[in-house]
Amino acid sequence: MTDVARRLLAWYDRHRRDLPWRAGPGEPADPYRVWLSEIMLQQTTVAAVIPYFRHFTDTWPGVAALAAAPLDDVLAAWQGLGYYARARNLHRCAGVVATDHGGRFPDRESALRDLPGIGPYTAAAIAAIAFGRPATPVDGNVERVVARLFRVTEPLPGAKPAIAAAAATLTPNRRPGDFAQAMMDLGATVCTPRAPECPVCPLAEGCAARRAGDAAQWPARAPRKRRPTRFGVAFWLRDGEGRVLLRRRPDSGLLGGLMELPGTEWTETAWDDAAARAEAPLAARWEPLPGEVTHTFTHFHLRLRLMAAIGAGPSGTWEHPARFARLALPTVMKKAIRHALDHGR
Ligand code: SF4
Repeated sequence: MTDVARRLLAWYDRHRRDLPWRAGPGEPADPYRVWLSEIMLQQTTVAAVIPYFRHFTDTWPGVAALAAAPLDDVLAAWQGLGYYARARNLHRCAGVVATDHGGRFPDRESALRDLPGIGPYTAAAIAAIAFGRPATPVDGNVERVVARLFRVTEPLPGAKPAIAAAAATLTPNRRPGDFAQAMMDLGATVCTPRAPECPVCPLAEGCAARRAGDAAQWPARAPRKRRPTRFGVAFWLRDGEGRVLLRRRPDSGLLGGLMELPGTEWTETAWDDAAARAEAPLAARWEPLPGEVTHTFTHFHLRLRLMAAIGAGPSGTWEHPARFARLALPTVMKKAIRHALDHGR
């Protein structure tokens, strides 16, 4: 075991964060809880995940229960965590584990990677934390700690392979799961992005960035590309009973499987009213509503206008707005619905 691993594990034994998915010291971890938490934690904070994790494990205490749940229930419970493709993959993965693996997660990184929604990071995290394999999960926290320890000056994302290789040299054969969690905890609580607390860090002695006195500036990042803007028009169609037409998005792609108002494609140039009307679900007196809805996705900004009409006929889901709460609607559609209702539609 390296000096880094020894010191970090000793620190972890005293300072580990108490998190609902973590097993107690010396207790075996539950692979279901490890997997669920790792999927939820992708690009979301620990504080945001805790209530969702509790709700999921109360509702579906094991992988078989989650596999048997209707997808819409899972998507509805996921609302607010973002990235719905993850929720759909979560449900698919539970199904594969329940049917193809007899309800047990595989215990090796390579087999874990074959499961839906499990990439290299998550496979390594589950292998290490749930099964004690000497795998090295490298998330943003670990990346930062390792970049500073070794003072990797090449900017991200180009430096990722070098950082991953350096991180792997630290992983011990004994307690690799605790070591992985210790690295995550150190990054989250001591080696923080803007103000690393080097004086209290258990790794200060061997840390190259601390020695150079420039820890806070690593890892460096290549400049981000500007987010482009896309434009769309959504159609608010009410029938004589006040119900609104909704449709389900295709399962794959952005917001896959979620409900939405019918609309145009989201394009790089704005739609004029005539072009938008040609895309409407039926020929009617479509009135543009004033203003627009804006929403920022990971890769683009969206500016969405609404057009409203009264009519019936097109197939889809017809639902009264009072019952929208039980549907899996993405945030951008909730904003669009609010916009229509605010304009008296
Ligand atoms: Fe991070 Fe400072 Fe510890 Fe180095 S010494 S790992 S920079 S907190």
